[in-house]
Amino acid sequence: MLNISEMLLQPHQGDRVLQPLWNYLLFRHLPLISSPFFPVLLAASCYFICSIPFAALDLLGERVPLFYQYKIQAGRQPTVGMMLKSLMTALYNHIFFVLPAVIMTMCILPTPILPQDAPTLYEVFIDGLAILLLFDTQYYIWHFVHHKHPQLYRWIHSVHHEYMAPFSWSTEHLSPSELMTVGLWSNQDPLILKCHPLTAWCVTVFSIWMSVEDHIGYDLPWSLNHLVPFGLLGGAPAHDMHHQKPNSNYAPFFSHWDRLFGTAVALEKKTLKVL
Ligand SMILES: [Zn+2]
Ligand SMILES: [Zn+2]
Repeated sequence: MLNISEMLLQPHQGDRVLQPLWNYLLFRHLPLISSPFFPVLLAASCYFICSIPFAALDLLGERVPLFYQYKIQAGRQPTVGMMLKSLMTALYNHIFFVLPAVIMTMCILPTPILPQDAPTLYEVFIDGLAILLLFDTQYYIWHFVHHKHPQLYRWIHSVHHEYMAPFSWSTEHLSPSELMTVGLWSNQDPLILKCHPLTAWCVTVFSIWMSVEDHIGYDLPWSLNHLVPFGLLGGAPAHDMHHQKPNSNYAPFFSHWDRLFGTAVALEKKTLKVL
């Protein structure tokens, strides 16, 4: 376990911009951040907080033309019932599958020891990118297989395809198996790559944001897929297309695997309203 008194004797790590933040977390919030529940709490809160503004946008619809002009499948608005169903699915999966899995992990594995030093910004960027690339590859393979195998699709992945026009809350409209699989990778990939916990948490926040952005149903000009050059990220246009044409755009974040294996399909924007 971390020895705080030893930490206080450590010289200041002036080359580490994130050291004050890391010290603050260690000194003030150690019970919270060392809890096995923390990564789950962080991921669930991010999903909730990131989804709320886009849910408001969905409810306002055509009344906000500034945003509605970017709606990908015009006219296909999610209802409050659809939103609640996705939210309840996420809640059900977390209560009955994720939390018991965390409790089991607590009983089996020892409490991880947090490092004294913060990561450098360079480490956060490079290690974070490595985690995202590994997850993107794992999910691409898993996703491809679950679309090609009828039984796997029917029993595991079809839940996520209930809606042809995705919306922010549908990001975690998943079967328990799918949520547990992505949860396992999210937890294990940073350990496999020996990343700092702070890097792993930054990636959690960033990847949840990207996943929600994939599902918002709006091709906003300031979204990450437009800000990152060369079409390296698929974003909402690619993933919306996957919900319209499920045998395309399998990668969750990046576009390279879909381009390499010929599964990339460009967005066909629906201009006619479908009621
Ligand atoms: Zn989706
Ligand atoms: Zn799919």
